[in-house]
Amino acid sequence: MPISFPHDINKAADYLRKAVPMMVQHQIPPTPENYALWYNYVAAGNQALNQQLMETIKDHGTCPRSDSQKLMQQFVLEDALTADPELYRQVNSVVSQFEDLVQETSSGTRNYSKSLEDSIKTLTGTGAQSDELKQIKTSLTDNTEAIFALTQSFQAHINSSQKEIENLKAELKTQYQKAMTDPLTQIFNRLAFDEEIEELIRTKSASFCLIMFDIDHFKQFNDQYGHTLGDTVLIGVAKTTQQTIAPIDSAHFSRYGGEEFAVLLPDCKLENATTAAETIRTRLEKLGVKNKSGNSTSNITASFGVAQHNSGELLRDLIDRADDALYLAKANGRNQVHAA
Ligand code: GH3
Ligand code: MG
Ligand code: MG
Repeated sequence: MPISFPHDINKAADYLRKAVPMMVQHQIPPTPENYALWYNYVAAGNQALNQQLMETIKDHGTCPRSDSQKLMQQFVLEDALTADPELYRQVNSVVSQFEDLVQETSSGTRNYSKSLEDSIKTLTGTGAQSDELKQIKTSLTDNTEAIFALTQSFQAHINSSQKEIENLKAELKTQYQKAMTDPLTQIFNRLAFDEEIEELIRTKSASFCLIMFDIDHFKQFNDQYGHTLGDTVLIGVAKTTQQTIAPIDSAHFSRYGGEEFAVLLPDCKLENATTAAETIRTRLEKLGVKNKSGNSTSNITASFGVAQHNSGELLRDLIDRADDALYLAKANGRNQVHAA
């Protein structure tokens, strides 16, 4: 079960205000992992994690770096992030909030120390010298010094952790990108496609188009030339298509699955999308592939289905229409574009 972060910003801020003094109390280094872990602790988010945190504190008096990194890896970074892009966004936003709030809390403590120090000066200035007053002064001075020292060391930790916060953010970004990338072709994968098309429908942006295309007789190609050369073809098809659509602003290209690809063209009319599909088709047709002995293989071709999203149309219906058009392109003899 991953760590959960509340959507309510005020609540998140409240948890953070509680988390930071607790970290000071337990001398927890203010690293990004620790912010996330202690945030979860005060929010009573994940019981298993909280139990492990408490046991670590009991054993060591603090939470050593290696332990917090292990917990972070186990409860935040693994599975959860690769499986859930929404969680990535939440973690990222909470990490950003940590930065602001920690600065805020820390400067708040500094102001407190300063005003305490000022009142001690005022008291000293009054010239009153009763024993009781002397005692108050001593205890106030001691307290102030202790808080000052604590704040200063905490501030130093915070400063040195800025870079680590950047590293964590970079790590989150890498994990997210990995989760959205097809390992073979290095283009977007199905998950990224789903995200993008849902976003296009959700934001009700100007009409967009979907091109779906599928390599022709690819099973036969694999059977004849081997799976490894088949993989090379998929990489080549991805590269050629990417180059072809590169000039189109905000086009989104992904491997939909197997030997099937999808191109999303925001703010685009059916006619223009059909022309784009035709350009990709002719470029793929010319894609030369050679086998190990340097001999050219049979031509690579693909069939295309193009559909423009109708206002209010469901995602499934749009994909079905593009798929039906693709099926017609296959049925009509392949290596052609069919518009829905
Ligand atoms: P059609 O023209 O009707 O699309 O025929 P097809 O042979 O391309 O279609 P079919 O669905 O029968 O076969 C798809 C083939 O794509 C079979 C499968 O082995 C191959 N394929 C899917 N993913 C990969 C991959 O990652 N690498 C390789 N080499 N082949 C793959
Ligand atoms: Mg095929
Ligand atoms: Mg197919």
